[in-house]
Amino acid sequence: MAIQIGNIKIGGPHFTVIAGPCSIESPEQFINTAQAVKASGAVILRGGIWKMRTSAQAFQGLGEEAFSMIQKVKALTGMGLISEITDISQVEATFDVVDAYQVGARNMHNYSLLKELGKQSKPVLLKRGFSAYIDEWLKASEYITNGGNQNVILCERGIRTFETATRNTLDINAVAYAKKHSGLPVIVDPSHAVGIADLVPQISYAAAAAGADGLMVEVHPDPSKALSDGAQALTFENFNKMMLQLERVLAAFDKGLNRLPQQMSSQHNEIHNPILM
Ligand code: PEP
Ligand code: MN
Repeated sequence: MAIQIGNIKIGGPHFTVIAGPCSIESPEQFINTAQAVKASGAVILRGGIWKMRTSAQAFQGLGEEAFSMIQKVKALTGMGLISEITDISQVEATFDVVDAYQVGARNMHNYSLLKELGKQSKPVLLKRGFSAYIDEWLKASEYITNGGNQNVILCERGIRTFETATRNTLDINAVAYAKKHSGLPVIVDPSHAVGIADLVPQISYAAAAAGADGLMVEVHPDPSKALSDGAQALTFENFNKMMLQLERVLAAFDKGLNRLPQQMSSQHNEIHNPILM
C-alpha cells in the first residue's frame, strides 16, 4: 500500500528521498538545507522540533519557535515535513506544521502515543527501537493501524549490536523482512544507522538494493557546527553526489526517484545557491 505525504506517495513504484537537518536550528539553516536537498532530488523534508537526546544537557530543539520557520520553508519549497513528536500533547500542537508524524526509536514502545496516533489520519513514520525485535516493531505498528490509521511507514534506523565502530548496525535483513511481512512501506535512515557521514552513501545504496521504498537522510550546511548529529550529516555537495549515484543503483532495479511536480520540469542535481531569509 502506498502512503501519501503531501503530493508524494511513499511505497509506490518510485523511491522516495526525505532529507533535511537533524534539528531545525535557525531560519537560514533550515531554508538553505531545504532548497539544497530539493535541488538534489529530495521530495520531503525532515527536521527535528523537539529532540530526544541521550544527554539532558544536549540541544533539545527549538520547540514551538520552529513553527513559523517551518511554515515559510514549506510555502517556499512546496515540500511536506516529517518531524518527530515525543509525547501526546505534541500531536495536536504540531498538527498545522507537520505532514507526517515521526515516532523515534526511543518511543517505539510508547504504546499510549501509538494509540493516540491511531486516532489521527496523518501518516506516521514508525522507527524501529534500537533494541527491538522485528516482530516487536511490526506489532507496535498495529497499535496505530488497529486504531483506524492505516497510514504507517516503517523506518529501520540501525540497532544496537556488540559492534561499536559504527553508531548502530543497519539491519538489512529487517528491511527485506518487513517489506515481505508487514504490507507497509519500509524506508531506511542511513544516518542514524551508521553515524559516520562518509559511510552514509554506501549504506543508502545497500538499502535501495535491499528493496527499501526510500531513505531519510540528515544534511546540514556546515556539519561541524551542527547542534545535533553533525558527525553523520552530509554536506550539500556530498548529498548531491550521493543522489546521482543512487539513481544509477535504482536504475539497476528498474526504479527511479519520486519527484515533486516542480522537479519534473526543472533540471535537478544542480547545487543550489543558498539564499538568506
Ligand atoms: C532523528 O531522526 O533525529 C532521531 C532522533 O532518530 P532516532 O529516533 O532513530 O534516534
Ligand atoms: Mn539525528
